[in-house]
Amino acid sequence: MPELPEVEVTRRALAPYVEGLAVQAVRVRDRRLRWPVPARLGTTLSGRALLTLDRRAKYLLWRFEHGTLISHLGMSGSWRLHLDAPPQPGVHDHADIEFGAAPGVRIARLTDPRRFGALLWHPHGRGDVARHPLLAHLGLEPFDTHFDAAHLYAATRGRRVAIKQALLSGDIVVGVGNIYASESLFRAQIHPALPAARLTRAQAERLVEAVRAVLAEAIEAGGSTLRNFIGVDGNAGYFTLNARVYDRAGQPCKVCGTPIRRLLQGQRATFFCPRCQRR
Ligand SMILES: [Zn+2]
Repeated sequence: MPELPEVEVTRRALAPYVEGLAVQAVRVRDRRLRWPVPARLGTTLSGRALLTLDRRAKYLLWRFEHGTLISHLGMSGSWRLHLDAPPQPGVHDHADIEFGAAPGVRIARLTDPRRFGALLWHPHGRGDVARHPLLAHLGLEPFDTHFDAAHLYAATRGRRVAIKQALLSGDIVVGVGNIYASESLFRAQIHPALPAARLTRAQAERLVEAVRAVLAEAIEAGGSTLRNFIGVDGNAGYFTLNARVYDRAGQPCKVCGTPIRRLLQGQRATFFCPRCQRR
């Protein structure tokens, strides 16, 4: 499943090629994504210049003067950019957005085998896209300076859930998916089952740093795949960082050698070192 680092790397790969260019055409071959793709999207976007390609949590925000196209990769989506005639669309290539004019045409193609992704239009007249129902209740961005120890400490007071569940909820900070939650807690030396309300200030400090480091590392690792998003060669697949605990049950901790343990929290697997992450 694409996580925040994949979405950020997608943004970095596409932005230099499409920002500032006008949309020439939109071809939607299958409108049945998680929500129906607007039928008139082509009319809405044609002739309009893309101002910037931004990201909020796992949403890409394609900002135009008259509104914002919101896209999400769902469970299995990916964007690929074609700098010349794209190949015949496959059965999972649901939408193309064509930018620029010949001979400099660029086609952003959305592929999504499981169709849990989204392509939605938010017109300027409906207000700031940040207040869109999908975006309004999201937690802070991990690299936002407001995401700091004071914020994490305050946001966990009164929360009885385990700290890992609090991270996954996405209402404190976005982008900490299942793998990144285990990895961040390991680096911060915090037991994943610690009740969120019992997180100390010092632990909050370490956890903020760990979340940022883990996500930055994954984005960095994905940066080496940037060119794979362009053209037909290469594999713009999902990537994972070199995990220290995730999926390593029974293997020695890379810090202390103790076997890594696995536990289930809300049906999701958590991996941790019982020695480095004492309760
Ligand atoms: Zn250890």
